[in-house]
Amino acid sequence: STQEKTLQICVVGSGPAGFYTAQHLLKQHPQAHVDIYEKQPVPFGLVRFGVAPDHPEVKNVINTFTQTAHSGRCAFWGNVEVGRDVTVPELREAYHAVVLSYGAEDHRALEVPGEELPGVCSARAFVGWYNGLPENRELEPDLSCDTAVILGQGNVALDVARILLTPPEHLERTDITKAALGVLRQSRVKTVWLVGRRGPLQVAFTIKVPRPRKRLTELLLRTATEKPGPEEAARRASASRAWGLRFFRSPQQVLPSPDGRRAAGVRLAVTRLEGVGEATRAVPTGDMEDLPCGLVLSSVGYKSRPVDPSVPFDSKLGVIPNVEGRVMDVPGLYCSGWVKRGPTGVIATTMTDSFLTGQMLLQDLKAGLLPSGPRPGYAAIQALLSSRGVRPVSFSDWEKLDAEEVARGQRTGKPREKLVDPQEMLRLLGH
Ligand code: FAD
Repeated sequence: STQEKTLQICVVGSGPAGFYTAQHLLKQHPQAHVDIYEKQPVPFGLVRFGVAPDHPEVKNVINTFTQTAHSGRCAFWGNVEVGRDVTVPELREAYHAVVLSYGAEDHRALEVPGEELPGVCSARAFVGWYNGLPENRELEPDLSCDTAVILGQGNVALDVARILLTPPEHLERTDITKAALGVLRQSRVKTVWLVGRRGPLQVAFTIKVPRPRKRLTELLLRTATEKPGPEEAARRASASRAWGLRFFRSPQQVLPSPDGRRAAGVRLAVTRLEGVGEATRAVPTGDMEDLPCGLVLSSVGYKSRPVDPSVPFDSKLGVIPNVEGRVMDVPGLYCSGWVKRGPTGVIATTMTDSFLTGQMLLQDLKAGLLPSGPRPGYAAIQALLSSRGVRPVSFSDWEKLDAEEVARGQRTGKPREKLVDPQEMLRLLGH
């Protein structure tokens, strides 16, 4: 029967890596059935919670992911956190193969004194806040200061700088959350410094894609050349906004205010470059510079977390050790996306990488390396989840939430007003 021939695949995570892996498997194997488990009640990972609201065109990939989810051989199970609600060994038992595509949910610490002071936050949390990530929805960053310092000069740092400096009326018709827009409207931040350890050429060259330069130019043009309306012109006269890049600076300490209660600046070590080509390193010259500011955003990278004690994890590199997506020493277990490669690369990179993982899995199947005989797939997991009181959100459930968000957005001319409270989402679904 078809039941017996079905190749049962489990994918963990519904960001680009999860969806592109599923797409590849469904296309290349006519008997594959793919279940995608996601800890959030809603799909799409960083496409929803990372990509900046003023870059809606990037989110068009959601249409492709939606097509994949509509396949009769694919199912989405949101509101299921793997490692907590169900374990990886349980999934491996229920499926022929498991692909871990759970991204990089943590941020790298600065590891400097003062990092814990109020007024310091990770760019990751800031991005999560303006994009409606449930765990960051109450961040409410204090934008009452006039200078913000962003430590880092990568794509995320540039997104954050742009959001801080873009006149709020330009964000009104994006899917930025209502709460974030409210805070940004009251913002008194006039100056944003982007601090990097190395120089302009390294920023452009190490990332190897034209995007950072495009973004930099975009930021520059938007804040420097846009003609303001009368109201905006008046506001700018009293609060002109500026930004700048500080190269060859490495953070040493977050400086406290005199009462010690919050951040009042950053101490930077001046660096210079040593070595050539790929071996170029920034080394301190011994000079220091203090940069006063009321807000410090650390943007020195995302980091994956281990998901389950049964899965090997390289905590130094922050990835699952693997060879082309095959998890080391665990047959039938694969990985794709940021948890496989580390937290760099755009959606297109993630797509190529995920297709490759899919290909390796199918090669292994052909070579007889995956378990033979039927596997129960979701039927077994559903029983476990229901015994644990977990109620998954299906893709059609998500489409109800999606319609609700779009309807709420329409009232104020936005493409959607994101639901940010998981309890409210589940209530709307009658869960
Ligand atoms: P993610 O997108 O993070 O997806 C991982 C998914 O796994 C998430 O939905 C998460 O909730 C889920 N998950 C985590 N843990 C569990 C668990 N235990 N159980 C179940 N599910 C779990 N790329 C572009 O091309 N253009 C852009 O403009 C762009 N902007 C970006 C802006 C920011 C701020 C960031 C951080 C990245 C941006 N990128 C952009 C890069 C792009 O987002 C990544 O390449 C891509 O999202 C990586 O895909 P992923 O599936 O590996 O990870």
